Amino acid sequence: MGEFDLIERYFRRRDLAERTGKTGGSSNTSVVHGIGDDCAVLQSTPGMQWCISSDMLVQGRHFFADVHPKHLGHKALAVNLSDLAACGAQPRAFTLALALPQVDEAWLEGFSQGLFALADAHDCILMGGDTSSGPLNICITVFGEVPAGDALLRSGAKVGDDIYVSGTQLDCVGQARCALEILQGRIKADASLLDSVRHRLELPTPRVSLGMGLRGIATACIDLSDGLLGDLGHILTASHVGALVQTDWIGKVRGLPLAQAHEFALAGGDDYELLFTAPPERRAALQAVAQRSATVLTRVGQVTQELGLRLLSPDGQAMTKNFTSFEHFGSV
Ligand code: ADP
Ligand code: MG
Repeated sequence: MGEFDLIERYFRRRDLAERTGKTGGSSNTSVVHGIGDDCAVLQSTPGMQWCISSDMLVQGRHFFADVHPKHLGHKALAVNLSDLAACGAQPRAFTLALALPQVDEAWLEGFSQGLFALADAHDCILMGGDTSSGPLNICITVFGEVPAGDALLRSGAKVGDDIYVSGTQLDCVGQARCALEILQGRIKADASLLDSVRHRLELPTPRVSLGMGLRGIATACIDLSDGLLGDLGHILTASHVGALVQTDWIGKVRGLPLAQAHEFALAGGDDYELLFTAPPERRAALQAVAQRSATVLTRVGQVTQELGLRLLSPDGQAMTKNFTSFEHFGSV
C-alpha cells in the first residue's frame, strides 16, 4: 500500500466532506478544507483566538513498542488535547505527522480507531498531516479556540491563591508513574494493582471541559506531564511567586509504601491532570465547575510571596523533597 492509499484508507474520512462548511449535528465549522490539498484551510470564529500546541511521541521514549495501537492512537491525541485544556481552549482541529517503519494494516486500523474515538468525543477534526517511512514517531499539532484574551496562562498566579489539582474518585496523580514502574519491572506488585492503574498511563483523559470551565476563574493553569512539583515550579517561575504544598491529600496506594505513593504523586509524570491556582473567593464557582465537568478538585496548597516551593508533611512539618521531575536531557 502506498502513502496516498494509506492516508485515504485510515485517515481521510468521507463524512468530513459533507461536514465542512455545514453544521451537520456539529457546531464545529472551523475546517473549511481538510485532507487532500496542500494546506488545510481554517475559519476563525469571530471574537476568538487560536491556541496551538504540538506534542511528539517517540517509541522507546514515550511508549513501549508493544503498546496496543488503539491506546497509542488515543494517547497521542490525549496529550495534545490536555495542552488545550490547560489553556482553557475548545478543541477544533489537529494535524498528524506520522513516521512508520512499515505499513502494518492491523496496527493502522487500531491506531486510527483509538485516535478518532477521542477526536470525535471532542469534535476535533483531523485536517491534514504528513506521512513518511522511518522509526515510529507520532507528532500531533492541535488547534483550539478561546474567547479573545481568556486563554489560561502560567503567569497569573497571585499571592494568597489556592492551588488545586484535578482527578476523579478513582483516578489520581501518581498512578501513571506507578503503572510505568511496574511495567519496567522496577517495583513488584500484584497483577491487580497494574490493572487498576494501567489505563492512567495508556489512556489518559484530557480535562477539556474542566479547562474551559476554568476560564475567568483560574489565575494560572498547567497540565501535569512531567510531575506535579516540577510543573507547579513552571507556574511559580512564570508568576514570580512561591508555594506551600500540603501532602495530607495523597492517599496510600494499595500495596505501595506511603513514601513511594508520595513520590509518584508529587514527581510522577504522565498524569494529564490540570494544576491551577484560583483566589479563595472563587471556591463556590469552582465547586460548580467541578460538578459540571465530573472531576474532583483537590486543594493542595497556597501561593506565597516567599519564593520557592515548600512541602508540608501530613503532620504539618517541613519536608525535604529528594526527588525531581522528569526532564529530557536532564541529569537525573
Ligand atoms: P504534500 O506533499 O503537499 O506535503 P502530502 O502528499 O504529504 O502533501 O499529503 C497529501 C494530503 O494528505 C495533504 O492534504 C496532507 O495534509 C494529508 N496527509 C498526509 N499525511 C497525513 C496524515 N498522517 N494524517 C492526515 N492527513 C495526512
Ligand atoms: Mg507531505
